[in-house]
Amino acid sequence: MKSTDVVVVGGGVIGLSIAYALAKRGVLATVIDRDAFGKGASWAGAGMLPPFVVRTTSSPMVELRSWSAVLYREWSAELRERVGVDNGYRVTGGIDVALEPGELGDLKTAAGRWRVEGIRFEQLQPSDFTRVEPELNPKALYAFYLPDRAQIRNPWHLRALEAAAQNFGVKLMPHTSVRRLKTVDNRITAIETDGGDISCGQVVIAAGAWSGGLLAEAQVALPTPPLKGQIVLFRAEATFLRHIIERGKLYLVPREDGRILMGATEENAGFDSRPTAEAVHELTQQAYALCPALARAEIEKYWAGLRPGSIDTRPYLGFAQEYENLIIATGHKRAGLQLAPATGELIANLATGAVPGIDLSNFRPDRAPGPAEDVAFRS
Ligand SMILES: Cc1cc2nc3c(=O)[nH]c(=O)nc-3n(C[C@H](O)[C@H](O)[C@H](O)COP(=O)(O)OP(=O)(O)OC[C@H]3O[C@@H](n4cnc5c(N)ncnc54)[C@H](O)[C@@H]3O)c2cc1C
Repeated sequence: MKSTDVVVVGGGVIGLSIAYALAKRGVLATVIDRDAFGKGASWAGAGMLPPFVVRTTSSPMVELRSWSAVLYREWSAELRERVGVDNGYRVTGGIDVALEPGELGDLKTAAGRWRVEGIRFEQLQPSDFTRVEPELNPKALYAFYLPDRAQIRNPWHLRALEAAAQNFGVKLMPHTSVRRLKTVDNRITAIETDGGDISCGQVVIAAGAWSGGLLAEAQVALPTPPLKGQIVLFRAEATFLRHIIERGKLYLVPREDGRILMGATEENAGFDSRPTAEAVHELTQQAYALCPALARAEIEKYWAGLRPGSIDTRPYLGFAQEYENLIIATGHKRAGLQLAPATGELIANLATGAVPGIDLSNFRPDRAPGPAEDVAFRS
């Protein structure tokens, strides 16, 4: 039996961010993933980040999001310095549009939230479109420009986190499946894997949509229903699109090499992560509606991923009540990439006995479902 202080189950953006934050505090965790690291939802995502603002506390989710936005700047610079990997963090700006009259209400409500949070934005007139984003559908009814909207290349960010963790000496165990948590009374005593048992001081479950299944085996009821999301990747000229374009839950995210992601669906399809013809058709139609000239662009690829759900609009962050050494960090739904650095710092604080940095009562794994909140930045 191998022994380690903190074992993190799941090597997606959440597990790797926790391991990285722990390593910065001198705690070298073990991270286990049944696949290569970062191949789950974290790879499949679009990498959209909300605008940077000073950390605000108007609601628990806003606090977590704004803390993360601040940390993204720091972590991106830090990761580049430590391991020489560019995670693609770029402040490209964004345009939020309404194409139909029925979409105006939601867009204006979102703008009201941005104002309260101090997020910079301005309304664009149709005469501005060609100057700001020449390929945007000129028939858009309403558009707001958000100069501070940002993005990461999530596969690059995952590579950077993995390299930094390795650099620190974190023990990385890819291609190792966790079968179950072994328990005695109110403690997890070991992690049973297909490579043998690992004893542990503390365990962090960050296994995305699969967390609920693992925890159920240990009699912890924590629903993490998979929320399937599909993306279509276009390839155009590098200068085709400059800004992230968002229309409700749909978006175009341009990369600087000319790739453009059109996302994303939201489906309850169990653990089926296969892309479907129907979704690809729907997403391409939506892409043409936002930027008609995309109809002539190449479609390079499409894929699907399973976002980890929760019982409401918040992730689960904190100790499980059932075991004194079990920490849970999952259920981030559509926002796991944007919330990952703050989640990492928070859980590392918790695991090391430091002040968490945020009021955790709102994220308790055993909470009753809270009211829906904060749709200012869905991603
Ligand atoms: C199409 C799409 C677009 C998205 N766009 C954005 C976006 O723009 N911005 C944003 O913030 N978020 C976005 N998201 C959401 C975001 O990707 C997720 O919230 C986030 O990746 C969740 O990270 P995770 O580490 O919890 O899960 P995952 O990345 O799924 O990682 C969980 C890991 O646990 C491992 N695992 C599971 N079971 C076991 C086991 N028994 N043993 C060992 N390992 C196990 C898996 O192999 C996996 O690697 C998007 C998601 C999708 C699908």
